[in-house]
Amino acid sequence: MILVCVRCNAKNRVPEDKLSQNPQCGQCHTALIPQSPIILDETNFSTFIQYHDLPIVIDLWADWCGPCKMMAPHFEQVASQYNRVVFAKIDTEKNPRLSQAFNIKSLPTIVMMDKTKELARISGALRGPQLKDWIDQQIVKVGK
Ligand SMILES: [Zn+2]
Repeated sequence: MILVCVRCNAKNRVPEDKLSQNPQCGQCHTALIPQSPIILDETNFSTFIQYHDLPIVIDLWADWCGPCKMMAPHFEQVASQYNRVVFAKIDTEKNPRLSQAFNIKSLPTIVMMDKTKELARISGALRGPQLKDWIDQQIVKVGK
């Protein structure tokens, strides 16, 4: 499958049985399935979402948003528990066009996508176990 490097945008071909072995980008050696959320923005979002073959869970947040800050450590912690799902954060203040494209009405909003297809979204701060339950429910639908 193809995993896009969030640092250099290189498209890496990674055999499925190597996913659990901490694969790295062939060009810049950045971890392709990092243990903590990656940062997506208006410069790398479209390439990433178009080519990356693993489902992705995106936390859309803002610096002024209290509930976003409350959820951040939970999101971080849950991210370290999956190696077949990518976790990403988008700062809605710095990326107004993405925020608009997602039609974000309240923060935080969590969106799960498989390639360019939105699978589900949920708004409001979730704690670790709630977040995990929600993700597990969506993964079943993807069948990955
Ligand atoms: Zn790279």
